[in-house]
Amino acid sequence: MAAQDPETESASPGVPERAKPAKAARREPPAPKRVMSIHAHPDDQEFTVGGTLAKWARAGSAIVTVCITSGGAGSNDHTPPDMTREALVPIREEEQREACRVLGISEVVFLGYEDGMLEPSLGLRRELTRIIRRYKPEAVVCGDPTMRFYSSMYMNHPDHRAASDVALDAVFPSAETRLIFPELLAEGLEPHKVSLVFIHGSAQSDTFIDISELLDVKVAALKQHKTQLGPWDPTDMITEWAREQGAKRRLKAAEAFRLMRLHEA
Ligand SMILES: [Zn+2]
Repeated sequence: MAAQDPETESASPGVPERAKPAKAARREPPAPKRVMSIHAHPDDQEFTVGGTLAKWARAGSAIVTVCITSGGAGSNDHTPPDMTREALVPIREEEQREACRVLGISEVVFLGYEDGMLEPSLGLRRELTRIIRRYKPEAVVCGDPTMRFYSSMYMNHPDHRAASDVALDAVFPSAETRLIFPELLAEGLEPHKVSLVFIHGSAQSDTFIDISELLDVKVAALKQHKTQLGPWDPTDMITEWAREQGAKRRLKAAEAFRLMRLHEA
């Protein structure tokens, strides 16, 4: 039988909270130097990992956000019926740039794929491999392609599954293997090893980033996506999500990840 993992052991009953040292403070990984945050749509990043990225940006990380689509399909609730994809795309791209400015991210790349139509294709894998080799991130942040259902209320968007599936495939093996996509070598893009992958929205989270000090920044960044939020104020929901994710480590507010350590940084 496997030894019980102290990480997952629940707190001893009756032990006052203050008597236990905060595990998260000890175990939170340091901010990676170079980070690539890969998502299907504008606003995905702000809903899921904005607090972590804001924290890392303030610690000096160089971060690039990659949006595979520009969100041209909009929102069922808040996109006016006379809106077109062509008109919506530049608005959503600007909202994403504004959100990144709030988080402290200066670089955003839009790959121009069509919202609602993403497939885990080799073409997209080549594109993400190209961009990983170009920016050489130490850490990649993306979603969990194995998540089909979240509670009984939300079926994960197919674009989210495709984006995270391809992001992981691009990290390994394509980005680090010389003879996969050899045409990239001709562009001067040598293999690159990504050391860490932070996977959000996983059922196997093992790494918790304390965002207590960044919660207001996360909300402010999310609010830049005006076309998606309409008059809705996301503060309460984001606060509750952060509380739920932090509860396992007695953090007031956290973002939870499954962390893959592929190489020594
Ligand atoms: Zn999305």
